[in-house]
Amino acid sequence: MEDNFKHRGLRKQLVELLKQKGIEDEGVLAAIDNVPRHLFFFDTAFLQHAYEDKAFPIGNGQTISQPYTVAFQTELLNLKPRMKVLEIGTGSGYQSAVLAQMGVKIFTIERQHQLYMKAEALLDELKIKARCFYGDGYEGRPSYAPFDRILVTCGAPEIPEGLKGQLKVGGRMVIPVGGVNQVQKMMTLDKISESEYKITEHGDFQFVPMLENTNNAR
Ligand code: SAH
Repeated sequence: MEDNFKHRGLRKQLVELLKQKGIEDEGVLAAIDNVPRHLFFFDTAFLQHAYEDKAFPIGNGQTISQPYTVAFQTELLNLKPRMKVLEIGTGSGYQSAVLAQMGVKIFTIERQHQLYMKAEALLDELKIKARCFYGDGYEGRPSYAPFDRILVTCGAPEIPEGLKGQLKVGGRMVIPVGGVNQVQKMMTLDKISESEYKITEHGDFQFVPMLENTNNAR
């Protein structure tokens, strides 16, 4: 669990790269600078890749998102401290840790049981506050709704209706939308009123798919 000067140096370089790629939000850049991404790799054999701007396998056929993607999605969320944020797709827990650094309250759902267990244990060990749930992200977390922000970190075939309902009026969802094995369009959905939404596209990205049915995911 060590975070040494070498890791910190590599993170500074990563932050510079993200700036060059267009990330401007100082809070987001500070969060990337502060979260030791190498600890979220689960497998220490690959630590040298932790500060490259690349997605990487974390087991169970899933990936830790590319740092640029994490930064871009976090920037699109336009967070204010203490907001309630629902994340779909905990994966490694890295994005949750970045959100925690931004001072928001995190609720995060993962459908793969092993990943849920690992991420929850790791976040706990790092003393990062995030409420982790094992389940189907399509269902959201009605008992904690409404949320100021919803962040989907897997590619959804379409914007799930159930999640729209769990967003506050004035709130925003950030979600990559597109079919399996296709590129997805990054979208923001702003909830203008209980029945009006404004959807904006923000370019192409590639994510693992947002799957239905929790039963096969152990
Ligand atoms: N935010 C993660 C990215 C993980 S990749 C990180 O920072 O590492 C996306 C994750 O979404 C995968 O772990 C996958 O298992 C999960 N996922 C896919 N469909 C889901 C669903 N319906 N509900 C919850 N999680 C889902």
